[in-house]
Amino acid sequence: FTLVDPLSGQGKGVHFSDVAGLREAKQEVMEFVDYLKRPEIYKSLGAKVPKGALLLGPPGCGKTLLAKAVATEANVPFLSMNGSEFIEMIGGLGAARVRDLFKEARKRAPCIIYIDEIDAVGRKRSGQLGQGGASGESEQTLNQLLVEMDGMASKESVVMLASTNRADILDRALLRPGRFDRHILIDLPDLEERKQIFELHLKSIALENEPEFYSKRLAHLTPGFSGADIANVCNEAALHAAREKQKHVTRDNLEYAVERLVGGTEKRNHAMS
Ligand code: ATP
Repeated sequence: FTLVDPLSGQGKGVHFSDVAGLREAKQEVMEFVDYLKRPEIYKSLGAKVPKGALLLGPPGCGKTLLAKAVATEANVPFLSMNGSEFIEMIGGLGAARVRDLFKEARKRAPCIIYIDEIDAVGRKRSGQLGQGGASGESEQTLNQLLVEMDGMASKESVVMLASTNRADILDRALLRPGRFDRHILIDLPDLEERKQIFELHLKSIALENEPEFYSKRLAHLTPGFSGADIANVCNEAALHAAREKQKHVTRDNLEYAVERLVGGTEKRNHAMS
C-alpha cells in the first residue's frame, strides 16, 4: 500500500479547492473531516460515526481526488491500496496484505484507508464458487477485509473509503451496516461543473486571457467528458502549443485538443464494439 502522511511535510496534498464541482459529495465527506479532526468530541457525546463510505461513479471523475482531500483537510495520514493489487496473489498473500494495511492504520490512527477499485477484490462470492484456486484466493482476501472492518473498533478513528464503478457486482456483505453502508455518488460533471473543472486546470497553463474567457465554450463542447478527460484536454493543448513553438496556449490549441480527445474516444468505442 502507499502512504501519504501530511505530518511528514511531503508534497502539498490535495485540498477541497482542488476538487471542482461535486458540491453534494464534498458536503457528505465533510462529516468525516470533522470527525477525524476532533474524534474526542464525538466520543464524549457517544455519537457513532459511520466507519466508511463507498464512492460510486465512472472513472476519472474525482473519487481518488476527493478521498485524498479528506485526508489533507483533516491533516491525517492517507493509506491507499488498489483492489487490483490483490489479484493473482497466491498463498494467502492477499489476505496478509489486508492485515498489514489495517495494522498500519491502527498504528497511525486517526487516519484514512482508501481502497481504489474495490470491485477487483470485493466481487460477489457466491458467483465465484467452484471456479478453482484463484477465486478461493480472492474469497479469502475479501473475508479478511470483512473481518478487519468489523474488528476496527469505533474508538480507533479510522475512516474507510473505497471506490468502484461497479457497485452491482460487489458482495452484499461489504454493503452491510457498519461496513460500506454510506454511498456517495461521484458522477460525470454537468455543464456548470465542466466549466469549473476547466477553470481549475486552465489556471496552471500560460493563456492569453483569463481561464473564464475559455471555460464556458469548452464546457459546451465537452458533454460526456470526465474530469480526467478535461485535465487531459488542457495538457494536450499546452503540448500542442509547445510543438508549434507558441508563447501562449490559444483557443485553437484547446479546441484542437478537444477534437483529438473526442476522436480518440470514438475510435476506442468503435474498437470495443
Ligand atoms: P478512477 O476510478 O479511474 O480511479 P477517479 O474517479 O478516482 O477515477 P481521479 O483519480 O480522482 O478519478 O481523477 C483523475 C484526475 O482527473 C485528477 O487527478 C484530476 O486531475 C482530474 N479530475 C477529475 N475529477 C476532477 C474534479 N472534480 N476536479 C478537478 N479535477 C478533476
